[in-house]
Amino acid sequence: MPEVMNWQLGRKMRYPYEEKHPDWQFAFVFNTNRCIACQTCTMACKSTWTFSKGQEAMWWNNVETKPYGGYPQHWDAKLLKLMDEADPGGMRWRGGAYRGKTIFELAQKRADPEGHQVALGYLPKDEEWRGPNFYEDTSTKYPAAGPLGLSTEGAQLPEHKTWFFYLQRLCNHCTYPACLASCPRTAIYKRPEDGIVLIDQKRCRGYRKCVEACPYKKPMFRGTTRVAEKCVGCYPRIEGKDPLSEGQPMETRCMAVCVGQIRLQGLVKIGPDGAWAEDRQNPLYYLIRVAKVALPLYPQFGTEPNGYYIPPRWVPRDYLRQMYGPGVDHAIEAYTVPDRELLAVLQLFRRSQKIIFRYEIQEGPKIYETERFGRKFTLWNDTVIAYGKDGRELFRTTVEEPIHVRPAQHANSI
Ligand code: SF4
Ligand code: SF4
Ligand code: SF4
Repeated sequence: MPEVMNWQLGRKMRYPYEEKHPDWQFAFVFNTNRCIACQTCTMACKSTWTFSKGQEAMWWNNVETKPYGGYPQHWDAKLLKLMDEADPGGMRWRGGAYRGKTIFELAQKRADPEGHQVALGYLPKDEEWRGPNFYEDTSTKYPAAGPLGLSTEGAQLPEHKTWFFYLQRLCNHCTYPACLASCPRTAIYKRPEDGIVLIDQKRCRGYRKCVEACPYKKPMFRGTTRVAEKCVGCYPRIEGKDPLSEGQPMETRCMAVCVGQIRLQGLVKIGPDGAWAEDRQNPLYYLIRVAKVALPLYPQFGTEPNGYYIPPRWVPRDYLRQMYGPGVDHAIEAYTVPDRELLAVLQLFRRSQKIIFRYEIQEGPKIYETERFGRKFTLWNDTVIAYGKDGRELFRTTVEEPIHVRPAQHANSI
């Protein structure tokens, strides 16, 4: 089995498929602190891409309430349990590197009736796909017993000392996709131009190996067509073929509609060795690789997912470390008391539907200085300027929201 470099794990790992890297990689950052679970993203995807009988279970984008919600139900708890059974206590990080085994490495230890799995996984039962909103807005006691801060006792009135948070999910268009490696029909491919992972519906025979292998459970088997389908990364928009885009790459439907303005999506440049090419002024590169404020979801699975999350501030840290890896404390500190550049870059979220390839900051005046969580915080009213793929300016915005004074007489005056 070839060895590949997984930068999220800080080490090489075994991957049971040919190593191949795109020129650009589809990636996104979600700020979980701002999501209101309005499900506008979910419905934008659904109304754009899924139709006709059988669509009821196709939730390519979903927003689930953690810790109990999930689509399919308990997908992450079930896989974590399988991983722990295969290698008890093995999911450990030391010095920023993952010392445990990934789903690819663990599969070698566990034979199923048809021989070894390509990746450790399971096939959810039909009832686990019944609905995406089970446990929505269900909280858990905080603080609670147990290392992860979970409690089955539920909320107690009148204190409301409880926690939950919203986790937004779609296919991560992984660098090392388990779905692709597991397909016996080679019906799944990763596009060389943008790293989007697609299922060729004509080649698929509905074996559901991808559903079993994907740790995030994002390929979905459709009973009416008897083939699997999944998020297509809104590829026509990424290609600049949406009539609104004037030929420029555009963010996907679920990103563009986000009411909470929590989503920023784009493309990162991949070097000839498969690593991210240094691109300091690309907002995704900055947030993920420089500020390290956004983290991958369950990096220990080993697929190198390309979705990144700014973790929620109020959730027990052990729970978050299990979910996002060892960078959680730094990410929350950086987000809670942002430095000058981070605060400016955070203003780029949802100001345009076009993909931002580069940003620049023009320094503005100091507005105030204060102390937050025992640290000095200064607010500068800088201007951040976003540029598109062709180098043209897309928009500029300031850290302080501008104030507009409405004239006494206006169109709707009574
Ligand atoms: S549209 Fe945005 S705020 Fe609403 S549920 Fe989706 S990610 Fe959250
Ligand atoms: S999230 Fe799952 S379906 Fe998407 S690329 Fe990764 S392994 Fe494949
Ligand atoms: S990227 Fe497009 S296809 Fe994928 S979940 Fe979002 S809206 Fe749906």
